[in-house]
Amino acid sequence: MNTCPVFIGGEWRTLSDVPTTPVHNPSTGNVIAEAPLCGARHVDEAVEAAAAAFPAWWETPPVERARILFRFKALLEDNFEELIRLNTREHGKTLAESRGDVKRGLEMVEFACGIPSLLMGESMENIARGIDCDTIRQPLGVCAGITPFNFPAMVPLWMYPVALACGNTFVLKPSEKVPLTANRIVQLLAEAGLPKGVINIVHGGRDCVDALLMHPKIKAISFVGSTPVARHVFEVGTRHGKRVQSNGGAKNYVFIMPDADVENSTRGVIEAAYGCAGERCMAGSTAVIIGDASKHVLPSIFEAARSIQVGPTDREDQPQMGPVITRQHRERVEQLIEIGAREGARVAVDGRSVRVPGEPNGFYIGATVLDGVQGGMSVAREEIFGPVLNVMRFEELDAAIELANRSPYGNGASIFTRSGKAAREFKHRIKAGMVGINIGVPASMAWFPFNGWDESFFGDLHMQGKEGVQFFTQQKVTTTRWFSYGEGDIWHK
Ligand code: NAD
Repeated sequence: MNTCPVFIGGEWRTLSDVPTTPVHNPSTGNVIAEAPLCGARHVDEAVEAAAAAFPAWWETPPVERARILFRFKALLEDNFEELIRLNTREHGKTLAESRGDVKRGLEMVEFACGIPSLLMGESMENIARGIDCDTIRQPLGVCAGITPFNFPAMVPLWMYPVALACGNTFVLKPSEKVPLTANRIVQLLAEAGLPKGVINIVHGGRDCVDALLMHPKIKAISFVGSTPVARHVFEVGTRHGKRVQSNGGAKNYVFIMPDADVENSTRGVIEAAYGCAGERCMAGSTAVIIGDASKHVLPSIFEAARSIQVGPTDREDQPQMGPVITRQHRERVEQLIEIGAREGARVAVDGRSVRVPGEPNGFYIGATVLDGVQGGMSVAREEIFGPVLNVMRFEELDAAIELANRSPYGNGASIFTRSGKAAREFKHRIKAGMVGINIGVPASMAWFPFNGWDESFFGDLHMQGKEGVQFFTQQKVTTTRWFSYGEGDIWHK
């Protein structure tokens, strides 16, 4: 079995002296690789390599750094089809979803190619007579990124293209469940001409993460994953003096008003709930049905959910939905459905019994709808992260907004309506960092911040957009006065 190599100081190394964890193809359940579980020793080697590469990379003009990223973008495009297949093989999402995953990552590289103009500072003359002031942006040094399993291409690319364009060097620790896509993409970056040590990859789980969080030479940590780990990363990282941006989990609400268009809102809910088998931090996992929308939109949602075919994604014939990431994760999702039913929800569409012919060992679970979910239930509070849609019914928009705003999370929320007034009210009052109006998954794109609130984000500066550039740079303010010869010689009079 192939053990996935680490990339340290420009060398790919297969480690034989650390334990490993299996990487699966979720469509078949087969083990396709082993990921090494690095600890403090290998983290230290990677950080030292990044620290050694930093001075020369910092001195590289921003436009030269951007040129390497332009070549990287071209290589990502040239290898696009191979990347989406690899992504699907280790993650299980459909090829169309993998296409979106890699495409969104590519857009981050495109954004990073234009960063030189965002690095420009500000200046003002005569802040006092004959005195001028200016700001410049400088890199932080060695930065690290820790990423989740659900977007193997996109989420790492939220981090290091921006960090590198700003002049930092980087250590990436991808999810040990999906290390292959991250490795392949970094291989392309090295091929684009990135100097040795500027980017490094280590693999592993908790020990590897903790070694990164405590390493004295790491200046900043970017994290994406579940809320308990996001909180841990923020607390430990900041305690060790680092800048931290830490994205957590979510529970996102899709409101359907009585005047919503049936077809568009059904499609919006279905794509938001079941896209990527519900394994998205922006999954619209709760449909909030207002008033008479229960009579026309809800039956259409039930029918659409029932018709979703589940199957293997690692071949040409594509299903509408793929498997979830691991057998354990499928069991957890099934358990939550069971708990929901015990706590009083009605299992209106039950995906637990799904069988995929010829693939008895794949990690499949069908589209499921829990109707009549109430605020206090476990399924209303916990992030299920699988193909399960909660349905909550309300008579009025007000009461529904009040309930949604009690959620500890704050990633996304959407409304489907024909009323500008209702949409405006929703946008103004809903407690979420990304809002969709007649858009089911309002995930922001590279140029805008990926903007979680509350327990969906710990830190000050989000990933993507200008905030990303601010996160990976520190400002220097210089105040300048020049004397004429002999002028201001106050000490020797
Ligand atoms: P996870 O929290 O289990 O793992 C994320 C990363 O943390 C991985 O690299 C993993 O190795 C590491 N890790 C896991 N347990 C750890 C521990 N105890 N201590 C230190 N490190 C640990 O998340 P996941 O299951 O890979 O991904 C799914 C989660 O990510 C969901 O909650 C989802 O909502 C969230 N997510 C959030 C966003 C966002 O932008 N808000 C985007 C994508 C995914």
